[in-house]
Amino acid sequence: MSSIPFPILFIMLVFFTMWLILRKFHRIEQQKRNLPERGAYLQAHAQSDARCIACGATELEDQGLTHGGDERRIVSCGKCRTLLYRFVRPAAE
Ligand SMILES: [Zn+2]
Repeated sequence: MSSIPFPILFIMLVFFTMWLILRKFHRIEQQKRNLPERGAYLQAHAQSDARCIACGATELEDQGLTHGGDERRIVSCGKCRTLLYRFVRPAAE
């Protein structure tokens, strides 16, 4: 049926899967970088204290943009995981 030997087909499949994963990862990364700053977020949603825009939860989580200790923090909802805003944490001295 196919003239392509199986091992090559397998390698192509592995590469294709890796490409799909990278593309998804890159898209999430891009979404995080495009998030509004905390001030702009609060203003845009007329909030004095940050709340989730999707479910209203006040329980938020922050994580580093590129690694755990990154000063650029990405805040997401602790309940529904919606990405909300970003802020820069002052570096610890
Ligand atoms: Zn939420």
